[in-house]
Amino acid sequence: MTNLPGKKYLVGVDLGGTWVRVVLSDCQGLIVENVRERVDVTSSEAISLQLIRLVRFLCKKRGADVAELRSVGIASAGPLDMERGILVNPPNFPFDSIILTEPVREALRVPVCLINDCAAAALGETTFGAAKGVENFVYITISTGIGGGAIVNGTLLLGKDGNGHEVGHFVIDCEGRLTCGCGRKGHWEAYCSGRNMPNYVRMRFDEIGLRIVMRSALYEGLHGDLSQLCAADLFNAARNGDKLSTMLVGEIGKLNAIGFANVTNAYDPSMITVGGTVALKNIEAVLSPVWKHVSDYAINRVPEIKPTQLGENVGVYGAVAAALKYLP
Ligand SMILES: [Zn+2]
Repeated sequence: MTNLPGKKYLVGVDLGGTWVRVVLSDCQGLIVENVRERVDVTSSEAISLQLIRLVRFLCKKRGADVAELRSVGIASAGPLDMERGILVNPPNFPFDSIILTEPVREALRVPVCLINDCAAAALGETTFGAAKGVENFVYITISTGIGGGAIVNGTLLLGKDGNGHEVGHFVIDCEGRLTCGCGRKGHWEAYCSGRNMPNYVRMRFDEIGLRIVMRSALYEGLHGDLSQLCAADLFNAARNGDKLSTMLVGEIGKLNAIGFANVTNAYDPSMITVGGTVALKNIEAVLSPVWKHVSDYAINRVPEIKPTQLGENVGVYGAVAAALKYLP
């Protein structure tokens, strides 16, 4: 990175389905200001206007001029068209497309890039986190959905549209018993993500039969209303010793191991870090079966697999790293 005179700050944006976080960092990646708001979904233009307003707000708070900004990195869940800086049919928002980079670039007169949030997180880990300097690295998030970002031979994999690492849609069940949010069957995310894990549990409950299921603390805790089931219920019941829940957490863990093995076989990384609420709140329950079973499915040498140290900041660090690396 070359030093640009007068350009003191980078902006990182972590655009989630519900919350948007914007940070101001110095050019070494030290975060100096940050703000979080609910995403404004009143119109498809509202999000870029919100970003412009929040960046101006942070500059003012810092006593800095917008002209001192070097670049802006926006990290968002895909699918995205990286080249045009737009989200395409985003499942999180009720719009066909959302134009992000152009309005921000025009309003702030600063280079702006859009990047998949997990790809950004991989950059964040290799720039500021545990994977600093690691040449072959994958970041995986197990959260509402499952996603990944891969650095191979020191290069961030992007693909033709910037979606080159959709690991959550790797097939892990050739029978395709569960349908993914994307409409295809058998995808990793359809079984093991926070949003879809309840579908897995309900499917297994059907197979196991009500007579046995009724005796579980998980079923009792929900008063038999399985429509209310969420991933946290399952993990909590397992933690409290419910046998059926423990068995299902183990099964989901084995499916995760298949996902991690696919990642290992595809990218041959020397380290994988794991983030996302589901994983970080249940590190032992999620990662133990992965550590135990990944070698059953991986042909490549199994990498070090561990939770991210950046926690929920991995997204904004990734966005700052993208601003740092992908723009002048
Ligand atoms: Zn899918």
